[in-house]
Amino acid sequence: MARTEVDRCPGVLSVHQAADGGLARVRLPGGRLTPAQLDVLRLAAAELGDGRLELTSRANVQLRGLAADGPRELSDRLFTAGLLPSIAHERVRNILASPLSGLDEESRYDVLPLAAALDQALCARPALAELPGRFLFALDDGRGDLTDLHADVHVRALDEHSALLCIGAYATQVDWPSVPDLMLDAAQSFLALRDQEWRIAELAGGAEQIFRQLGLQPSETAAPTTVSATAGVHGSALVVTVPLGSLTQEQAAALTQVAPEIRITPWRSVVVPATARGLQDVGLITTPNSLWEGVTACAGRPGCAKALADVRADATRLMPEMERDGRRVHWSACERRCGKPGGLFVDVVSVADGYLVDGERV
Ligand code: SF4
Repeated sequence: MARTEVDRCPGVLSVHQAADGGLARVRLPGGRLTPAQLDVLRLAAAELGDGRLELTSRANVQLRGLAADGPRELSDRLFTAGLLPSIAHERVRNILASPLSGLDEESRYDVLPLAAALDQALCARPALAELPGRFLFALDDGRGDLTDLHADVHVRALDEHSALLCIGAYATQVDWPSVPDLMLDAAQSFLALRDQEWRIAELAGGAEQIFRQLGLQPSETAAPTTVSATAGVHGSALVVTVPLGSLTQEQAAALTQVAPEIRITPWRSVVVPATARGLQDVGLITTPNSLWEGVTACAGRPGCAKALADVRADATRLMPEMERDGRRVHWSACERRCGKPGGLFVDVVSVADGYLVDGERV
């Protein structure tokens, strides 16, 4: 598929100008944040933006409502906090890892240290700064929770010795020490092969060509899919639902009291140690089956100029009346459906005179 648009994926240094001001996206490889780093983001949102921290479907964090001089100050703060390790690579540090990796019994191999190693190795290769901002790496600890997110280069643990290197519908077995270099070599092959494409899936025969360049012989494979963990305790971790994936100042401040780290998930929830206390007091949800489990929304009005509705307000008002069938629910204020989740979901879209739910007018 030939692309005609320019890749405008926002970052910290390439801020998107939205209707409510600058929008900066901070990449968090593996979704990891120390409490101190979260506090830097929280204060930056309060002092430079609209006060909230938005969690994204790639386990990153966004700040909105930045004034004209906000991005410069924000990048200085993030650099000092270790959240901007490479100016050249800042938009391409798109690395997902299974958020419960190493914390519960489903985990076959702890991939979180590998996320950090992959990030370092990525930033050490100047050529990879040219990757499109949408190119995605995924490190799955074997449970299959990242399958629906359709990463370009996906590794899934088999055991503590080996993993499957997956690109598109093809996969081959590799040992763990070779994984970071192979993932980055695959990305570099994509850059050599691509024209205007942003993703490997857009390149005809891309997966087969890349495996050939890597000197590997893959076979076709079907990846397992498991649903993401619901709110509550899982092993030594507590999964916390964040209503509409948007942290208030008070909620972010409560999470900074958690040690030693907070993990953002691609489902806009957070993972903290099971010992964390007091999060329900600030409106975070620590038990399953809440109204807000699996419910997401795009920015909507007033943040986005294309929006036909204030979907966040409408979702807050209408979700209590909505019947659920186990699927996630995504609210969009126009047909672009920004931030929609992977896999099956109830599709709520604003149109000129109301909403369509899975294409049916309500
Ligand atoms: S789905 Fe439409 S209204 Fe919502 S953020 Fe995207 S472009 Fe804006």
